[in-house]
Amino acid sequence: AQERYASIRDKPAISRDGQTVALHMNAGLMADLPSLESSGAEGVGLFRTELQFLVRNKMPKRSELVALYARVLDAAGDKRVVFRTLDIGSDKVLPYMKPQDEPNPALGWRAIRVGLDKPGVMRMQLQALMRAADGRPLTIMFPFVAQAEEYREARAEVDRTLARERKLGHTLPERLEIGAMLETPSLAFAPQKFFDEVGFLSIGGNDLKQFFFAADRENERVRRRYDTLNVSFLSLIERIVERCERSGTPLSFCGEDAGRPIEAICLAAIGIRTLSMRPASIGPVKSLLHRVDLGALRKVIIDARHRGLQSVRPAVLDYLRAQS
Ligand code: PEP
Ligand code: MG
Repeated sequence: AQERYASIRDKPAISRDGQTVALHMNAGLMADLPSLESSGAEGVGLFRTELQFLVRNKMPKRSELVALYARVLDAAGDKRVVFRTLDIGSDKVLPYMKPQDEPNPALGWRAIRVGLDKPGVMRMQLQALMRAADGRPLTIMFPFVAQAEEYREARAEVDRTLARERKLGHTLPERLEIGAMLETPSLAFAPQKFFDEVGFLSIGGNDLKQFFFAADRENERVRRRYDTLNVSFLSLIERIVERCERSGTPLSFCGEDAGRPIEAICLAAIGIRTLSMRPASIGPVKSLLHRVDLGALRKVIIDARHRGLQSVRPAVLDYLRAQS
């Protein structure tokens, strides 16, 4: 399959009816960087910075982080890298941090909640990112934002860090993009003002789905019970697409479903035009995209909903079978 995809690696991902979809890759470790070249990804849509923290046995120093992030940016060249600030807690526990005894860690003190309550590590990380950028453009994304105010507080922390860096005489990033992950249903219903002010949004489908269906993503027994192509879930995604379009806010999707070809084309059909996935999925997703008419697929999805189906999957599969 690798060889089969090599021929389309450098071709843009365009559907049969001429619609372009940007395919980015998810990363987090240095070992992922060579994939930027080999997969044909347009950029890194999600760089999970916590992975660097999880593979160590003590808190990394700021200087080590600067060196790591600089290597990532060097490897990416002109390609954009979306650095997600630490997403720890829940299933990702740092061995050198005091464990929290929480009844429901997935709903607990995690990600940006930790970053806002104990800003020391987040500040160090923001500084390290700015120094690593050293005058280059920089993109930062905050995980697990559940309400607009959390984004605003994090944004204010970025502004304070910028001011401090300027005072210390460091070169500031040439351009700074700040965005948030949308992975709790609450954020989809935030005031429109939030969509106006956020720099960009990326749907974290793994968590969004877990909280939408109240089904633990780590629990095999319930995890597969709810289909991503369930009409209710797709309606939520469409609502997010509409709200972003109204505000002119760039939107992407970076959960695992972005890398599943059928799910990916359905997301594209309902308006998600940037997908970020594991590097090995880029070939298969691109290859299916080339073969589908996204306009027609959109009609299939709308029609399946009108027919009262629970999931649009059977209708989508029928449509694809009829195509081939
Ligand atoms: C997600 O929740 O979909 C996501 C991309 O973040 P993570 O899988 O790291 O929680
Ligand atoms: Mg998540």
